[in-house]
Amino acid sequence: AKSAGRAHYQLFDEQMQMQVATQLRIENELHRALERKEFRLFFQPIVAAATGQLVSVEALLRWQHPVQGLLSPVEFIPVAEETGLIVPIGTWVIEESCRLAQHWGLLRDTNLPLGVSVNLSPRQLLQSDLVDTVSRLFRTYSFDPGCIEFSFEVTETAVMTDPEAAAMTLQALRDLGARIAIDDFGTGYSSLAYLKQFPVDKLKIDRSFVMGISESELDQAIVRTVTGLGHAMQMVVIAEGVETAEQARILQSLDVDLLQGYFYGRPQPEEQLEALLLNPNQA
Ligand code: C2E
Ligand code: CA
Ligand code: CA
Ligand code: CA
Repeated sequence: AKSAGRAHYQLFDEQMQMQVATQLRIENELHRALERKEFRLFFQPIVAAATGQLVSVEALLRWQHPVQGLLSPVEFIPVAEETGLIVPIGTWVIEESCRLAQHWGLLRDTNLPLGVSVNLSPRQLLQSDLVDTVSRLFRTYSFDPGCIEFSFEVTETAVMTDPEAAAMTLQALRDLGARIAIDDFGTGYSSLAYLKQFPVDKLKIDRSFVMGISESELDQAIVRTVTGLGHAMQMVVIAEGVETAEQARILQSLDVDLLQGYFYGRPQPEEQLEALLLNPNQA
């Protein structure tokens, strides 16, 4: 039994070493990826529930890895978070989003600017010069600042360490004209207290409440209640992960304002989205 225990321990140890090695490799590669401009943004359509009209997009990060191909953010964001590399990567995401907000504002009827929702990591939210960076980018590119929305998840890191600092950063971003959204509402550490404390324009209902909504009366009750709460606080309410017409219909009947999910479109490269913008009926 003793040797079996040791063998087990050794295996565990080897796995740990592999994990550390993998992390190190990804970290080195992330540095290089920034230099070589291997990151790309994909954009997923967000539509008005009532009309189906495209109103904004969510910017979703991808890594065009030279060997492994297109990598999903779940494969590298955790390492980027841990090493702090998420800060320069995140700045790139914001700049790219501003550039495209400007470009799409010119492409489209200027009365109908396209919103761009940008994910902010907890680390970025606590970064002292985030507001300066955003302010600089808002001056560099010209577009209605209300087009850019920063969405953040209430996680242990961001909120438990320094909620006042996070709230101040969000308020400063809002003072620049940007909008603020709470992501994945109803999961993790998001609580009602934070809705009061943070300046929030939009509430995004997590996909886990949408998945089973066609069958589950409980999910319907949760979405109805959260939507009512959001509206009572003057917030726009959005649901993500909409995959079927029936889910869309139910969410619309529950008074959700905006819908996002594969049913309306996958995250797609800039060129594809532009084709959709120029010819909305082709969707
Ligand atoms: P998220 O913010 O919850 O983004 C939504 C995720 O759900 C995206 O995954 C999207 O592709 C996926 N999705 C959209 N519609 C559907 C659907 O109908 N069904 C299903 N099953 N999935 C759907 P993605 O692009 O892999 O991104 C994963 C996560 O990575 C994001 O979750 C976000 O937390 C993070 N992320 C993405 N881009 C960035 C970024 O620029 N910065 C930071 N900090 N995080 C990012
Ligand atoms: Ca998001
Ligand atoms: Ca989510
Ligand atoms: Ca998430």
